[in-house]
Amino acid sequence: MTETAGLFPHGTPGAYKRHQRAGEDPCEVCKRAHREAQRKRDQAGRPALAAVPAQDDGVAPIDRLERARWALTATEAAIAAGRPGLSGLIREHSRLVDLIVVMEEQQREERETRPPAQDSPWDADAI
Ligand SMILES: [Zn+2]
Repeated sequence: MTETAGLFPHGTPGAYKRHQRAGEDPCEVCKRAHREAQRKRDQAGRPALAAVPAQDDGVAPIDRLERARWALTATEAAIAAGRPGLSGLIREHSRLVDLIVVMEEQQREERETRPPAQDSPWDADAI
């Protein structure tokens, strides 16, 4: 086996693994480096995990809209490719178009009805 002991100085996650591979109990500085690396990994993973449930709700309009657009593109491709069931595909196509139009309108309304930035110190004084 090639000697790689010099590659990772003690106090690094790599050296911790080297201890383990060698069947040793890692030294204190290597254990600390290992814990630190794990903690950083955990922190890096947390925001992504927390974001998952929000997306899985299926209530986020942007997701549904994107999926409807994708389905529309797929339906158009199926029609263009001459797939069987043309009348069904065309019905599905117009259903998706209606759906997307409604969802886009909803999104626009949400944007427009969102209250503008408030708490400007000038508002009270101007009146
Ligand atoms: Zn060590």
